[in-house]
Amino acid sequence: MFQLNEKVRLTASLVFDTAWRVGSGKEGETMSDLGVMLTTTGEPILPGSSLKGKLRSTCETLSHALGLSACLLNQAASGIDCTSDIKYYSKVRASYQSTFQKGLNNRLQWIDDHTCDVCKLFGSPVKAGRLWVSDGTLNDRASVVQVRDGVVIDRDSRTAVDGLKYDYEVVPPSSRFQLCIDLENLTDADRALLGAALFEWHAGSSIGGFTSRGLGRFHLEEIKLSGVDMTDPVQQLKFLTGKKTEERLNSLGDWETYFRDRIEQQLQSTANSQQNPNPVGKTEED
Ligand SMILES: [Zn+2]
Repeated sequence: MFQLNEKVRLTASLVFDTAWRVGSGKEGETMSDLGVMLTTTGEPILPGSSLKGKLRSTCETLSHALGLSACLLNQAASGIDCTSDIKYYSKVRASYQSTFQKGLNNRLQWIDDHTCDVCKLFGSPVKAGRLWVSDGTLNDRASVVQVRDGVVIDRDSRTAVDGLKYDYEVVPPSSRFQLCIDLENLTDADRALLGAALFEWHAGSSIGGFTSRGLGRFHLEEIKLSGVDMTDPVQQLKFLTGKKTEERLNSLGDWETYFRDRIEQQLQSTANSQQNPNPVGKTEED
């Protein structure tokens, strides 16, 4: 039923321009009030779940400009019907279950009609995503955790509250992480969305906690794209018998060219559908 047609792997260096923190939710190793997340060997970690969450929110922000839908996990706020909004899903669940008797194509069509473009890439309760983000691995071992002081600010008077001080851990600037994103069976819309997010991260974005205080600014370097087209027997054999990842996958060339072309195509198709909103004989993409 599931057929793997294409795999793409994207790697990059994620470089922090400022100090940053992904909170551990408890006290730090340094006895500070708010610790940062560490590996079992004590190195700062950039969890795949945080990276994926950030990538998702970047895609949500850019989706409108590309003419693609984003439910924001909230159907009432976004006006987009998508099963990732639990409230909305509970309303339409019976309709989804009724498709089980109507055959696979019917069910796939229902899922397609009830999933926004962002959730098609990132996944929803009824559909696996096409994107996996690994934990960021620290490339330089020099990063030690630092402790900073914070004060509690009264929201109304916007002044510091006397006696309410806390400290929090950060990882210093210039730490570098290896980013790895695996993708399967991407559609044209997925490529445009992901490409636009990559251009944004390359220019600079922010991740983690306390970003309003200037923490967590990062950018990407050394973005590389490789992949395998499983419909090509030569590539398929190489993939199935290669002993190392770099032997199994083929370079997809310059990432900027690759994604700029896809973004341009997406903008063109959005412009066409706006000029001609109800074309006769419209066919479903994907
Ligand atoms: Zn959605």
